[in-house]
Amino acid sequence: MSDATAIVAIDGPAGAGKSSVAKRAAKALGFAFLDTGAMYRAATWWALEQGVCLEDADALAESTRAMTLEIHEGDQGQQVLVNGTDVTQAIRTPEVTRVIYKLDQNSAVRRHLVALQQRFGARAPTVAEGRDIGTVVFPKAKCKIFMDASLETRAKRREKELAAKGVAVDFGRLCAEIHERDEQSRNRADSPLRMAEDAVLLDTTNLTLDEAVAEIVRLARERL
Ligand code: C5P
Repeated sequence: MSDATAIVAIDGPAGAGKSSVAKRAAKALGFAFLDTGAMYRAATWWALEQGVCLEDADALAESTRAMTLEIHEGDQGQQVLVNGTDVTQAIRTPEVTRVIYKLDQNSAVRRHLVALQQRFGARAPTVAEGRDIGTVVFPKAKCKIFMDASLETRAKRREKELAAKGVAVDFGRLCAEIHERDEQSRNRADSPLRMAEDAVLLDTTNLTLDEAVAEIVRLARERL
């Protein structure tokens, strides 16, 4: 297992700021960065692209295993390739987000992606973020953080992100969508979103991005 390597495991619900904070903390620590959500998104994009029936669990597992997934860290940020096609933008569409639960509840899909994540973490010190990093992917990680924030704060951050892309949204609807994704993640049978017993809770409701990054870097240096 890859747990002997230095791993910073970050979990939490949508909009808690995991991606931006984890990416910056990885850079500050000189660690690799692993966005596991991007892997579930890539598998979903590929299943849609292939026209796989989303109700067919075996076919979803098959298409995930058949996919060649590459994640590169470059100057422009993370680049995701599926079978050689750059899907960095395509995996972030609402269409992918809407149906991703069909794959993230599929145990065979999870097993395959978790194995890829463990291989990634075995290669180099890594900051990994997702929903099950401290509980399932790297249960022996010495530094585990559960990032959370109030629903309103998380929705406001998402609204701001979308506004920067020129997309206007109804705030109430956004809150409802985020709440629904939280419920799906927390209530699924396989690898539900929950805080590991040995994780530190980091509530980012009243923290700036810089403050959250500084706290993670501090915890990583203290524990690893
Ligand atoms: O973090 P992000 O929003 O990109 O993740 C997309 C989705 O992938 C999550 O809503 C969740 O359903 C799923 N996911 C997961 N386990 C992970 C990471 C993401 O089930 N470790």
